[in-house]
Amino acid sequence: MRKLQMVDLKSQYEKIKEQVDNAVINVFDSTAFVNGPEVRQFQEDLEKYLDVKHVIPCANGTDALQIAMMGLGLQPGDEVITTDFTFAATVEVIALLKLTPVLVDCDINNMNISIDAIKKAITPKTKAIVPVHLFGRAVDMDAIQEIAEAHNLFVIEDNAQAIGGVYSGKKGKQKLGTIGDVGTTSFFPSKNLGCYGDGGAIFTNNDELAHTIRGIVNHGMYERYHHDVVGVNSRLDSVQAAVLRIKLPHLDTYNKARQKAAMYYSNALGVNENIIVPVICDDCDCHVFHQYVIRITNEKRDGLLAHLQEKQIPCAIYYPIPLHRQKAYVDERYNEEDFAITNQLSDEVIALPMHTELDSDQQDFIINTILNYIN
Ligand SMILES: *Cc1c(COP(=O)(O)O)cnc(C)c1O
Repeated sequence: MRKLQMVDLKSQYEKIKEQVDNAVINVFDSTAFVNGPEVRQFQEDLEKYLDVKHVIPCANGTDALQIAMMGLGLQPGDEVITTDFTFAATVEVIALLKLTPVLVDCDINNMNISIDAIKKAITPKTKAIVPVHLFGRAVDMDAIQEIAEAHNLFVIEDNAQAIGGVYSGKKGKQKLGTIGDVGTTSFFPSKNLGCYGDGGAIFTNNDELAHTIRGIVNHGMYERYHHDVVGVNSRLDSVQAAVLRIKLPHLDTYNKARQKAAMYYSNALGVNENIIVPVICDDCDCHVFHQYVIRITNEKRDGLLAHLQEKQIPCAIYYPIPLHRQKAYVDERYNEEDFAITNQLSDEVIALPMHTELDSDQQDFIINTILNYIN
C-alpha cells in the first residue's frame, strides 16, 4: 500500500510532471515573472471554465476576500454576517477592514451557514453576507440570494474550498463562486485547484466592480502612477499561472476522483450508527469534497483521532475551536447558546485523507481501522 497522506500532491504531480515542468521552464526563459502572458491566459481560461465575465487573479485566497470587500466599498462599522464554522481567513479580513464581523451558527445537516441564523442576525447596519461553501459543499444560494435581495445586502461567496462545484437552483446550474455579487477562491496547493505556491482569484459578472477591483489589486492605479483609491499589491505570479493553466483542464476529473473516494468511504462508514457521513447526491456536483468530514456521535472522536494517529493514518480536525471562541474574535454580543451546532460540530468532526490519488487499498485500510475502533 502506498503511504497514506492527508493530501498526496506528489502522486498527482508525477502524472502531469512533463507538462508542468515545461510550462514553468518557459516562464523562466521568458523572464516575464510578473503579469506575464500566462497570467492573462489563465484568467481567460478560468473565465471560460466558470462561465463568468471577470476573473481577477491575486496573491492568495485571503487577499481575494479582502479585496472583494474593498471593491464593494464596505465601510468601517458595516456589519458582515458569516459562519462561525470556517477557516479564520473569512472573518479575519472583515475585522482587518474594521467592518463588524457577525458570526452565526451553522446547519447540522450540511455544516454550512444556517439560513435561519442569518435571518435572525440582520440589523439596519448589515451590509453583506459571506457564505462559505465549506469542505466543498454548495451553500443553498437561492436562500442566500433571497435574503440579500430582501435586505439589500451584498453576497460575497468564499469559494476557497469548492472550485468546480455546481449549484442547481432557480437559475439552473451555476458554478460556485459566480452566483453572488462577487466570489473568491484560493489556489493554495492543497485546495481542489492548487498551484505550487500561493495564489487566489476574485470572480464577478459586474463590469464596474471588476474594474474597481483591477485597480485595487494594483495599488489603486487605473492609470499608471495615478492612485485614485487606496489599494494593495496582490498578484498571481506567472509561474503559478503556468501551473494552473496545466491543472485547470484536469479540475473536473480531480473533483470526480474526490467524489468517488467520498462515495466509497460513505458506503462503508455510513452503516455504523455512531458515524454520520456527508450526504452525497448522485450525478450532481453540489459537493466537490475539498475535505471528507464525518461526525462521530458517541463521544469517541478524540479517541479515534489518537487511534488513527497510532496506526499512521493521517487525519485532522477542521475546525477544533469555533471562531466565536477564538481570542481574536470574542465579542460580548455573542451568546453561547446561539452557537449550539458549531460547538457540537467542533467536538464531533474528523476529516479523513481526501485527495485525487486515493486507491481502494488505502481506503479499505482506513475504513477497517475506523470501524474496528467505533463499534
Ligand atoms: C484556504 C481558505 C482561505 C484562504 O486562502 P489562502 O490562499 O490560504 O489565503 C479562505 N477561506 C477558506 C474557507 C479557506 O479554506
